[in-house]
Parts: sequence; structure tokens; C-alpha cells
Amino acid sequence: MEMIRNYINGELVPPVGEQYLDNHNPATGKVYGQLPDSDERDVKQATEAALHAFPAWSKTPRNDRARIMMRLADLIEQNLDALAMAESIDNGKPVSLARVVDIPRAAANIRFYATGIMHYASEAHNMEDTAINYTLRDPIGVAGCISPWNLPLYLFTWKIAPALAAGCTVVAKPSEITPLTAFKLSELAIEAGLPAGVLNIVHGLGPKVGAAITEHPEISAISFTGGTATGKTIARIAAPMFKKLSLELGGKNPNIVFADCDFDEMLTTTMRSSFANQGQICLCGPRIFVERPVYEKFKTAFVEKTKQLKIGHPQDKNTKMGAVASESHMEKILHYIALAKEEGGTVLAGGHRVHMEGELAGGWFIEPTIIEGLSYDCRTNTEEIFGPVVTIMPFDTEEEVLKYANATSYGLAGTVWTRDLKRAHRVAHQLHSGIVWINCWLLRDLRTPFGGVKASGVGREGGFQAIDFFTEPKNVCIRIA
Ligand code: NAD
Repeated sequence: MEMIRNYINGELVPPVGEQYLDNHNPATGKVYGQLPDSDERDVKQATEAALHAFPAWSKTPRNDRARIMMRLADLIEQNLDALAMAESIDNGKPVSLARVVDIPRAAANIRFYATGIMHYASEAHNMEDTAINYTLRDPIGVAGCISPWNLPLYLFTWKIAPALAAGCTVVAKPSEITPLTAFKLSELAIEAGLPAGVLNIVHGLGPKVGAAITEHPEISAISFTGGTATGKTIARIAAPMFKKLSLELGGKNPNIVFADCDFDEMLTTTMRSSFANQGQICLCGPRIFVERPVYEKFKTAFVEKTKQLKIGHPQDKNTKMGAVASESHMEKILHYIALAKEEGGTVLAGGHRVHMEGELAGGWFIEPTIIEGLSYDCRTNTEEIFGPVVTIMPFDTEEEVLKYANATSYGLAGTVWTRDLKRAHRVAHQLHSGIVWINCWLLRDLRTPFGGVKASGVGREGGFQAIDFFTEPKNVCIRIA
């Protein structure tokens, strides 16, 4: 049994209430460990530790903060195999994906902000002969960081790295569905020499631990990634307390294929943008709009490739598609496939739960699924499914496809495939989303603004913007005349 503990004030500790939750392996459906079922008492202890550690950490020269963070990043890399295996067991994702995406990106996040803080500068505004203004950027205090289960260590570090680099201390909560790598990170943080109380990790349920973090009056900022409904709940509580809020929420991204695109490249990438991580990436493109002249060609090739996509044991290094993260999530995805049929959709590939054999018999696997024949504004095409389910639909004009693409309440990311440069720019400008990829997908430069519009969130992560979020500007005006 893998027993997870909280990380509070530099120590690995059991929850105050001594209650635990079961941790499941999605590939077997079986319990393989336990995590603390913490409550507001654990959050209180963690916040006290973070408050106590704040003055010293915020005044630690950025050089020294960066050095400790670089050690942590090195330790993540040294433990790549063990962390990738832990992520795969905990989440159901292929270990091959965790090895090349999740864990290297976690190290990269920490290194990016450890070095970023060394280059972070604030502004000065000169008023000719009258005065000079300069802006101080002080860390905001104790930051609350709450993350989801789809890219567990990757998104957890994406939040805590800029917070720690900025000089904040942190109370963080990973998803209760995938707590294992955050626990392993706490062990590595101790090994890296992170001072006690600088990072505190409290495990447990959202409505208990997440809510206690959101409500705590001494936590000055909440950085949240997760579902739109949870984001609303957090905003309702945090906004009247005047907390700073960064909300990275759901998506229902369009993947727009024009007939003039590089077909083979588009097809290869569309396989990934549809089914990578079992479709459980907020940036996946589950609505595929294809210009009519290549629609039938695309449909045939895409269906054929999808049917060849083999589901396998997540811990087998050749597996491309693993299990979905939880039983309730599997039920939700299956419910949406049934809804798509009710709405008049035709299933061209997949559509079912996969019953594996042997130790995987109880696992939560779903076939990669393609659905055709739905209207652009039906529920299947406007609500987030967050699984290996995509819809395909033909279009005739640029104007028409923009109407389809912008028809959801979400606006996180969009992908456009075309060789026509002018059209690429035109469409990019008119898509209602925070991110647009032209002839690529998930190509990430960590300096770029990351986030969505409309129901996909508020604020941007990435680059210096994340450090801006975890600091408070103060303008100092000096009269010189
Ligand atoms: P979720 O909203 O259920 O949970 C996210 C986190 O919030 C978890 O740690 C959970 O315990 C916590 N939480 C739940 N209720 C809470 C409450 N009342 N108060 C405070 N915290 C609470 O989301 P999920 O199912 O873990 O993740 C999937 C969702 O995340 C999808 O909607 C996906 O699109 C979104 N997501 C967005 C991005 C992005 O960058 N925009 C990235 C990844 C995932």
C-alpha cells in the first residue's frame, strides 16, 4: 500500500483527523494506496507554516531561491523513471507519455521560473523634469495553488514554480484523483533543501481542502486549474475577499482543417490532438471541422488510423492509449457518447468501454471514438467531454467555420490547418480563444501567455505574467523639481 502524507512545515505528516481516502489505479480499478482525507485543520497548519516561512523566503536573495529550485528540478530529472511510473499508475496514462511529456515538463517548469526570476525587472516612468516613478514588485504572501488530475505533476509545478520563484510561500492541493507525484515532489523538496514551510502540500477532497484554501483569510491569491464549475465556486468565495485569482478552466477547442493543408502532417497531429492522454488535455481539439473537398478523404483516413490505435497496459512502454482517470469520469464519457447518439450522431469508430483481460479486467478503458452527423450547436458539440471522443463535420466557407468554431461558451485554444498565410492570420484573429496553433498543436514556448477567454478562464499563466500574478506592484513617485 502506497501511503501518502501531507507535507507541512518541512515534514511529511498524517492528517490531523487521521482519516484517509482510497487511491485507485485506473488500469485495474483497484485500490493501491491511500491519501490523507485532510480538512480545514490541516490547511490551517499549512497556512501557519507558510506565513511563518514567508518573511525569510521573500527576503532570500533570488539567486539562492533559484539555486534551491534548480536542485529540485535536477532531482526530478534524476528520478524521471520512478516519477513517470508513478504518474502512469496513478493516472492511467501511458508511461511512455509521462516519460517524455509530464515529468520532463515538470522539471522544465521549475527551471524556467528559477532562471526567470533572475531576469525579472520592474518598470520606471520618468515625468520629464518633474518626477520619477519606479515600481516595486513584492511577493504577494501566501499563495494557494489548486491543480487537476489530467497532467498531475506538470500542472502542479506550473503553479508552484512561479509562486516560489517570486518569493511567495505556498499552500498547494493536487487532485485527490492523482496525488502520488505531488507526494513524491514533497520528498524531493526536502532533499533539495527547500526551507520548512515554504511549500506545503495538503491532500484531500476539493470541497474540503480546496474550499478551506480558498476561504482562508491569510491566503492572498488563488491559482486554480480545473473545471469551469469549480472555477465559478472558487470565484464566488474568493472575489468578495479581494483575493487575486487566476483561473485556468475547461475547453472545447476547434480543430479547423482547410483543403489546402499538408494532409499527412495534419492527420498525424490530429490523431494526437484528438486522443493524446486519452483526450484528457484541456488543449485537445475534440471538434474537427473539415473543408468539404477533403472531408471524405479525411474521414476515411482518420477512422482507419483511429481503429488501429491500440489500447494497452499503461505501464507497457509501447502503449499509446491507456485508461481514463477515474470510474466516474469513464461514466461521464460514456454518458456523452449515448447523448451524441440521441442527438442524431453516427459513431464511426469506437463508442464503447473496453473490457481488458487479466489484471486489467476492472480497468477504466474507453475506445477512441469518432462521431459524425451532429449539428455544431448541440450539447455534444458545446459541452466539455474531456475524453477520447471527437466529432467531425464538413464546412464550405471560412465564415461558416468561424461561426461553428466560436459557438461554445469556451475559448481556450484552436488549431488551424492551411497553407494560405493570409487565411491563417485572418482565422487566428477571429477565433475566440486565448491560444491559436497554425499547422501544429501543443507546441509550447513557456514564455508565451497561456490561458483562455470566456468560460475557459480569467488571467494568463506563462512567462513573466505568472510572476506578475504572484507579486503586487507598488508605484513610488519621487518629485525631483
Ligand atoms: P475539478 O475542477 O474537478 O478539480 C480541480 C481541482 O479543484 C482538484 O484539485 C479538486 O480537488 C479541486 N476542487 C474541487 N472542488 C473544489 C472546491 N469546491 N473548492 C476548491 N477546490 C476544489 O477539475 P478536474 O476534473 O480535476 O480537471 C478537469 C478539468 O480541468 C477540465 O475541465 C479541464 O478542461 C480543466 N483543465 C484546464 C486546464 C487549463 O489550463 N485551462 C488544464 C488542465 C485541465
